[in-house]
Amino acid sequence: MQLWLCLALAMLASPLQAADRLNVVASFSVLGDFVRNVGGERVNLTVLVGPGSDVHVYAPTPSDAKTIAAAQVLIINGLGLEGWLPRLLQSSGGKAPTIAATAGIAALKAGSDSDPHAWQSVANARVYVANIRDALASAAPADAGFFRDRAERYLAELDALDREVREAIGTIPSERRKVISTHDAFGYFAVAYGIAFIAPLGVSTETEPSARDIARIIGQVMGARIPAVFLESLSDDRLVGRIAAETGAKIGGTLFSDSLTDEKGDAPTYLAMVRHNVKALTSALAR
Ligand SMILES: [Zn+2]
Repeated sequence: MQLWLCLALAMLASPLQAADRLNVVASFSVLGDFVRNVGGERVNLTVLVGPGSDVHVYAPTPSDAKTIAAAQVLIINGLGLEGWLPRLLQSSGGKAPTIAATAGIAALKAGSDSDPHAWQSVANARVYVANIRDALASAAPADAGFFRDRAERYLAELDALDREVREAIGTIPSERRKVISTHDAFGYFAVAYGIAFIAPLGVSTETEPSARDIARIIGQVMGARIPAVFLESLSDDRLVGRIAAETGAKIGGTLFSDSLTDEKGDAPTYLAMVRHNVKALTSALAR
């Protein structure tokens, strides 16, 4: 084949140029995964709080302001999760529409605040994905059909995941469906799937429990005969270890709540995160 033809074919087959793709910024890793599933190669995605980092206490960098200034769509969780965002938005001078992926979800209350961890119910994850699909489609109408097709496929996977979670939790004897976890990240999971999560910390990873809190929790674990305590990937494990040691409850492994892992970890995607958590719960709580 002649060289010029090879070059022409190579150009036709090459992926979209960066300039043709929609610049999307997602605030944290779970949203990034949803955007990737809907947007595929038609979006140029940047995730501000990457795998293994804590979105509650994130400290934005100067380069984040530049990223936001260049964004065409900004996808956030909302419900107060990204407390650091308003200042960053202001300093960036960015004009991209900011879309709260939780729009339309009935928020649970945690004290006087809304509980932001809505993605832990797979039914809510479907709302996130629909909101992201609509945001991408209105920012890039020419690709709307592409985004809708991909969203439809991914929504079907979420449906299947939701059924899978219900079946798995259904195998746990009902009197054993209770665990201790380190921060209140599983309220939506608890309501959706019927497992009681008792959390020694408040909703945010910022708060430290007092000695009195710990004594109260230990009393609670023993009184309610809670079979297992769980670690969370971003929290201080010493507390849970101490509760387990003093109550005889089993340590059920690590649950992922607020962050995905990198490719090599146990939860590189939302689907993998939910499956990992459900497996950890069912194996710790089975009789
Ligand atoms: Zn959290």
